Amino acid sequence: MEKDVKKQQNNPGKLFVISGSSGVGKGTLLKELLNRNPDLKLSISATTRHPRPGEIDGVNYFFISKDEFEKSVQNGEFLEWTEFNGNCYGTKEYYVKKTLGKGENLILEIETRGALQIKKKIPEAVLIFVLPPSIEELEHRLRGRNTEDETTIQGRLHEAYREIECSSQYDFRVVNDDLNRALVELEKIINQELAKS
Ligand code: ADP
Ligand code: 5GP
Repeated sequence: MEKDVKKQQNNPGKLFVISGSSGVGKGTLLKELLNRNPDLKLSISATTRHPRPGEIDGVNYFFISKDEFEKSVQNGEFLEWTEFNGNCYGTKEYYVKKTLGKGENLILEIETRGALQIKKKIPEAVLIFVLPPSIEELEHRLRGRNTEDETTIQGRLHEAYREIECSSQYDFRVVNDDLNRALVELEKIINQELAKS
């Protein structure tokens, strides 16, 4: 019995990487997923992007300067990082290693270049791509969110085409048509993968 508990404690947590074009609904889906599954942890990235109204430092992101970001890159602190539409985003290695080492299951919500860097470093990571029902609906959601100016929206749509092309390299693809349906599908994939470990 004692041995079983010890074995469980030594089991590293599972890493899930979720990507999808800007405005597809990743944030909305993840918020619901985490509400329903409080044992899942969401990693907080560092970014040089300015906070949107309502975003909180240390909750949504660690909002840092370009200089601080560059210093972290030079010190090799990032497990992965990239530039996306003019801003830098990165995942700190120590946090991922510490969380997985404690046996906790962790989600990274990151774009495709970072996701593919992760897959190379941690092949057992599970990559899930969230697709929009159509490009028109994606644009509609991105504009409807009302958080970006026109230049940023155009840049994000451009990134969206590139990212959708990468989605064939992911382990799973989920279409976020109806929010609840997509949530159930996402949850099913995660539970299936957790049952394997
Ligand atoms: P992302 O995190 O992928 O950039 P958000 O979660 O911010 O996207 O969602 C963008 C917009 O789309 C938000 O206004 C959100 O309410 C809306 N949205 C998310 N999922 C759906 C869905 N299944 N159907 C309709 N609107 C959605
Ligand atoms: P946003 O500015 O909309 O919050 O994020 C823009 C894009 O950057 C999204 O696709 C988001 O998933 C991605 N992103 C957020 N954090 C990271 C990160 O740490 N690394 C990488 N590679 N992408 C990230």
